[in-house]
Amino acid sequence: MKYPWGHTRRFNSYSEYIRKLFGGRVQKLTIDAGFSCPNRDGTKGTGGCTFCLNDAFNPSYCHPDKPVSQQIEEGIAFHEKRYRRATQYLVYFQAYTNTHAPVETLQNIYRQALDSRGIIGLVIGTRPDCVDDDKLALLQELSQKHHIMVEYGIESVYNKTLRRVNRCHTFEETADAIYRTAKRGLPAGGHMVFGLPGESREEMLQSAGMISKLPLTSIKFHQLQLFKGTAMADEYLTNPGVFKVFEMEEYLEFIIEYIELLDPQIVIERIAGETPPRYALIRPWGPRYDQILAKFEKMLEEKDSWQGKRYGNYEL
Ligand code: SF4
Repeated sequence: MKYPWGHTRRFNSYSEYIRKLFGGRVQKLTIDAGFSCPNRDGTKGTGGCTFCLNDAFNPSYCHPDKPVSQQIEEGIAFHEKRYRRATQYLVYFQAYTNTHAPVETLQNIYRQALDSRGIIGLVIGTRPDCVDDDKLALLQELSQKHHIMVEYGIESVYNKTLRRVNRCHTFEETADAIYRTAKRGLPAGGHMVFGLPGESREEMLQSAGMISKLPLTSIKFHQLQLFKGTAMADEYLTNPGVFKVFEMEEYLEFIIEYIELLDPQIVIERIAGETPPRYALIRPWGPRYDQILAKFEKMLEEKDSWQGKRYGNYEL
C-alpha cells in the first residue's frame, strides 16, 4: 500500500523526501562555524538551556577554529571513505545558534559553505528568537539557487516547560518564526524533546495537534537525553520523579501514538537520539539509530499503524 507521501514506508520519511527532491543520496556534513548562543552570551541569558551540551553532537572533524571551507573538505573526505555513493552534500550548521551574528557575517559564512565543492544547500540550526526579517531575506535570496532549510529548536509547545528548562523564548515566538520562514518559501524544520521535566505523557501527546498546525516541512523527535555536568543532570539527581525517562520499547510505543496524530504532510527526519556513552548521565539504550528505526518500523507494521492514522483526532 502506498501512503499519501507516495511510498510504502509507514511514515513520511526524510530520506525518501530527500531522494525525491534531489534524485539520489545526499549526505549532511555537520560543521561548527564558531557561532555563540544568545542564551549563553548574555543576549537572552547566560546559563543556556538546562539540557544543553553541544559537545555531545559535534563530529571529530568539525572544530570552530578551522575555516568553514576546511571543515567541509575534511567532512567530505570522511564521508567519501564511509559512504562511497554520496556525491551531493548539505552543510549542516548544527552547533549553537547559527543565525546569531550580523547579516553581513552570516552572508560571508553561508557563501563560503555554498561555494565549496559538492555542496547543494544548507541546513541551519537556530533558535526561533534569532531570525529577524533581514536574516530571513538573506536566506530567501540564497534559496533561489540552493536548498536552504532552517531548523528550529522547538523542544516543547508548553511555555511552562520552556521556562523550566531556561529556553528564554516562548512557543508563540516559535510559531511566529516558523510562519515567517514558511511565508518566504523556505522549508522549516523543528526539533522536539520528549521527557522534559514536569510534562506528562498526555501533554506530550497533545502537542501533536499544535505541531501539526504549524507550516513545518519536517520534524525531529528525541527522547530526553541527560548529559553529565548539565543543570538538568543536577535537577534529575535531586528530583528524578518529575522526569519521564523512557525505556526504548516504551518510547517507541509513545512515538507510534504520536505520529498517528501528526499531520501526514510533515516529513519525519528522526524519531530518537543516540547518546554518546561518555556524556550520558544514565545508561543509554544501546542499539544504534538504524536498529532503533528498524524496530520502530516493525512495530508500526505489527500494529497496522501509520503517520496520520488519527490525524485531527486530538481528543485524548
Ligand atoms: S540548546 Fe541551543 S539555545 Fe539552548 S543553550 Fe544550547 S545552543 Fe543555546
